[in-house]
Amino acid sequence: MSINKIAQQFLAGQIPQSDAETKVYDQSVLEHEGTKLIMIRQGLNRLLLVIGNGSLYDELEGESFEGYKLCPTNHHNRLVLNRCFPHTAPQAFGKQVATFGLGDRLGLASPGHIKTIRGRDVKPILAQQSIRELNLTGRDYREVLDAACYAVIQEGYTGGFGADGDHLKLEEDIQMSLDLGFTMLTLDCSDHIRNDVDNMNEQELAAAYEELPEKVRRRYEEKFLNQSFQVGEYAFTYDKHSLMKNVLIYSKAIDYMLYIYERYIKNAERAVDFEISIDETMTPTAPEAHYLVAKELQDNQVDIFSMAPRFCGEFQKGIDYIGDLEQFERELAMHAAIADHFGYKLSIHSGSDKFSVFPIIARYTKGRFHVKTAGTNWLEAVRTVAKVNPDLYRRMHQYALDHFEEAKAYYHVTTDLSKIKPLSEVSDAELPQYMDEDNARQLIHITYGILLQAKDENGNSLFKDEFYQTLIAQEEAYEASLASHIGRHLELLGK
Ligand SMILES: [Zn+2]
Repeated sequence: MSINKIAQQFLAGQIPQSDAETKVYDQSVLEHEGTKLIMIRQGLNRLLLVIGNGSLYDELEGESFEGYKLCPTNHHNRLVLNRCFPHTAPQAFGKQVATFGLGDRLGLASPGHIKTIRGRDVKPILAQQSIRELNLTGRDYREVLDAACYAVIQEGYTGGFGADGDHLKLEEDIQMSLDLGFTMLTLDCSDHIRNDVDNMNEQELAAAYEELPEKVRRRYEEKFLNQSFQVGEYAFTYDKHSLMKNVLIYSKAIDYMLYIYERYIKNAERAVDFEISIDETMTPTAPEAHYLVAKELQDNQVDIFSMAPRFCGEFQKGIDYIGDLEQFERELAMHAAIADHFGYKLSIHSGSDKFSVFPIIARYTKGRFHVKTAGTNWLEAVRTVAKVNPDLYRRMHQYALDHFEEAKAYYHVTTDLSKIKPLSEVSDAELPQYMDEDNARQLIHITYGILLQAKDENGNSLFKDEFYQTLIAQEEAYEASLASHIGRHLELLGK
């Protein structure tokens, strides 16, 4: 039996050799008070080979053999390992170091992400999922965090990583993510931000403003009305019109931020990187709106890690920035100055593939940023499948085309299906090139939930199982795709 041979090598003090049946992750060796372990994979199944004695040996659950134990990479064992090896648990990073959100959508990308980020001046947020992504992938926060921690063990990575409860809106989700040990929390305030204000005429604006409690109006008027605030070379002033507008749009959201901070972040009894997201709104965040929100937070002693405004132009999923680069640069300079002034980091969401704006972000944030990418590791997974399993790719591509309209309900994209080359005209060798074309990228990007959930008439998964099997069996190919694609992001960001 292959495993026995491998165990004997490990018992003899060697790093075992992979063979046809068993892959050995040779960087994964860990030692703690007489217990030694290494991660191996048999087929699709990752296991821990554990030898020695001591409390760790006993605490890990698994099957015992002569002189060794084989333990599943499950939730229980992850928690045990986190306790013995603190670097395998997520951590908060504070505001002085650049961070990069990687959001491993499938639970397979983190080893490649770690290989990409290693040695660079930026810390990875390996676990980062929104509730919407969980619903569409059928995963939960426990699994998401388990996958990230085991990836860290597999790669022998000791540089530290974070876990982001991304775009959380509800208190129950905030509580759940904190209970599970998430170290970053992105509060999505969009339900408390008014989207109807920009379309109001002067009269409607004044009338809506009068409806606000007098206490609220007075609080903002005393502080901001006809006042000017200097931030570096920029001055932000609020006349009656602009103040009414900003208070109408943001005051409820600000109250929600204060409440969540008081109730959850301050009471967490550990460091939590608290991000405020005001990006999921209809209109871009004007720099003076960003300033007003930030000033209110500071005056109420709310200590934030980062703020994500909505920038001008479009940050669509999986493709480069669309919009006026000069305007973007002008406004980004102001947003970055505001973040700097208050001491937190500017956060850029939907950062996948925004190659044309990365150098601008690097310059104005002076390299102190948080950038989130999400679905791009899914697209690299699909690219890998296109390379190594063309038949599966073809079936997925066709299914995505057939279900594109359903997926569009969730995402704002400008995909033109007529520009995607028909499958019948593309050879197997050319299939990966679909992932270099914006329309095909967006098609595949937004249909991930539909593809992963697709079932045949007997209730069996149409693609998911084969997709996972392919990627696990071809993990080096997937890692290479990620290293090249995510690496390009980091290089343009100056990291
Ligand atoms: Zn966002």
